[in-house]
Amino acid sequence: MRADSAAAGVALDAAFDEIARLEDVCSAWQPASELQRLNAAAADQRFECSPDLYAVIDSAFDAAEQTNGAFDPTVEPLERAWDMRGAGRAPGDSELAEARSRVGWRAVVRVPASRMVRFTHAGMGLDLGGIAKGYALDRAEEVLRARGISRALLDFGGQLLAFSNREPWRVSVAHPADRLQPAVRLALSNAAVSTSSQSERQIEVNGARYGHILDPHTGRPLRTDASATVVAASGTRADALSTALLVMGRERALEFARAHPELGVLWLEPGPEGVRAWSSNLPTAAAAPGAAVQWMSRP
Ligand code: ADP
Ligand code: MG
Repeated sequence: MRADSAAAGVALDAAFDEIARLEDVCSAWQPASELQRLNAAAADQRFECSPDLYAVIDSAFDAAEQTNGAFDPTVEPLERAWDMRGAGRAPGDSELAEARSRVGWRAVVRVPASRMVRFTHAGMGLDLGGIAKGYALDRAEEVLRARGISRALLDFGGQLLAFSNREPWRVSVAHPADRLQPAVRLALSNAAVSTSSQSERQIEVNGARYGHILDPHTGRPLRTDASATVVAASGTRADALSTALLVMGRERALEFARAHPELGVLWLEPGPEGVRAWSSNLPTAAAAPGAAVQWMSRP
């Protein structure tokens, strides 16, 4: 995180506190997080969410609807079946079928007025890992702006939020197979950027490596070496949609991009002559210094 201002230190501390607080709300890794309490309770009774948890869930279901379920926050039973947060394992056919029968965003009942959530089947669960970081970036921006910061770049690695009232920030999108190698550069004044790929985090099962993003329609981890990047007005939306676009695959992702001119989209694939890049609505996109980029559709 960087910010230029005399009061930046204090403001950054407040932003970090906000991010840590939201981690306690949405984490799939902390057994005591509010989300895990919801997962333990919502099959038997209605669970009343805090305003933050409900807001993340609400955005997650919006994304599910907009992407026809490519983004689906109810993939939690599949995460457990593949032991995605542990050593990883491949579920048998019947176990996979069982887990799939508990996945489906339409099977969650929500009451916005009271922030109630209830599952319609036992064994369902929510996983907000594909959206919670974006939401935390948005809240961190609010904290910084409320403290008078007018220019900052927040970087969660793979997930960025930039705002500036002066010259734009230059940020880079990594090579799809190597997150440390910049491939494409973008200039941003007020936008969030999120990149999803299967190389970000992986499990290994019987010698095969699987990434951490699941196709809700097959119940299996995606097999792709591509990355999908979304530039959007909010971190929440960029985060959810980059995950969704990777699930959709290149053709459908670029179609989605054409239908949503408010988004910038970049699709990268490793190719024999460098990275192959498809871009939509990203006028500032250019190859990073030293990177070999083959433009398949012009920025
Ligand atoms: P990262 O966490 O590396 O930034 P993403 O934002 O793409 O990557 O989110 C991946 C996480 O989203 C997974 O670790 C899992 O928690 C969750 N997830 C996996 N598949 C889906 C899906 N199809 N829809 C919604 N969330 C998903
Ligand atoms: Mg995401």
